[in-house]
Amino acid sequence: AADAVSGVLDGETHTSDGVRIRLLANINLLSEMALALKIGAEGIGLYRSEFPFLIRSSFPSEAEQYQVYRRLFEDMPGKTVTVRTLDVGGEKVLSHVDSGTEVNPELGLRSIRFSLLHRDVFEAQIRAILRAAEGAFAPRIMFPMISGLDEFREARSIVYACMESLKEEGLGFHENPEIGMMVELPAALGIIEDFAKEADFFSIGTNDLVQYMLAVDRSNPKVAHYYQPWHPSVLRSLARIADAGRKAGIDVSVCGEMGHESAFIPFLLGIGIRTLSLDPQFMPAVQQQIQKIDLQKAESHAAELLGMASTKALSEALGLV
Ligand code: PEP
Ligand code: MG
Repeated sequence: AADAVSGVLDGETHTSDGVRIRLLANINLLSEMALALKIGAEGIGLYRSEFPFLIRSSFPSEAEQYQVYRRLFEDMPGKTVTVRTLDVGGEKVLSHVDSGTEVNPELGLRSIRFSLLHRDVFEAQIRAILRAAEGAFAPRIMFPMISGLDEFREARSIVYACMESLKEEGLGFHENPEIGMMVELPAALGIIEDFAKEADFFSIGTNDLVQYMLAVDRSNPKVAHYYQPWHPSVLRSLARIADAGRKAGIDVSVCGEMGHESAFIPFLLGIGIRTLSLDPQFMPAVQQQIQKIDLQKAESHAAELLGMASTKALSEALGLV
């Protein structure tokens, strides 16, 4: 796959007027690390940790998970590495867990809800991440599908509890990872400023944010034409999340598919996004696009789009039609 991709990154990425943009990699399988390294990714913005869980017939043990996560940190020395905790359920079904049939799995027992219910599974994962991150430069733990402040606090308190037990057991671990969250549920928007005071970073999951905000199944072709990332409510929400992050001084990245789509990149930079996390294959083209963007122009472009309320007008202004 690496050979099929043209080009590698030419050092750090800056807009034409010199504003630095970080390009981090989305990784699903460890085998994709080779491509991320070859292309020159500046770190990992999203490791989808559920993949080793999905391809097995039982839960990987803490020791097995440690080996996987250790590779991530060892392959990216001195760089940001973001491990997202288990995001199962919905379209990602674990064959070995009988969760019963759910009429509405996308709204069901998934993701952080699954982890908070199956605490033993969650703790094994957190312990493995903390241990694997020992000595790492900038490890980040990220919770998916966070809907409320108490849920975030509960998940974070489990990380702290795991640190306590690791200390008691005399095992080495990283004592100060950044603890952040995916912003991908509309419920998070109304309290985004409150989240920004507690989370160490945000990563915007536009795939799910669009799905849940517009009530459109992201994988159902019958309603694909309703899946409109350019919907004004989506664009204004992204701006609000970026604002909240900037005011609180925390990093806000976009790790959903919008982050590599050329039509949206000027808008994302224009609202203040400075970190994009994307599949490594898209990085060279995205870097080339960013190098031609003048940030002041991107800011006026974003302001103009944020003033529009018609999806038709927006899709035209974004050059999508
Ligand atoms: C997202 O929802 O945008 C995202 C990056 O996570 P996933 O695609 O794994 O749900
Ligand atoms: Mg998601």
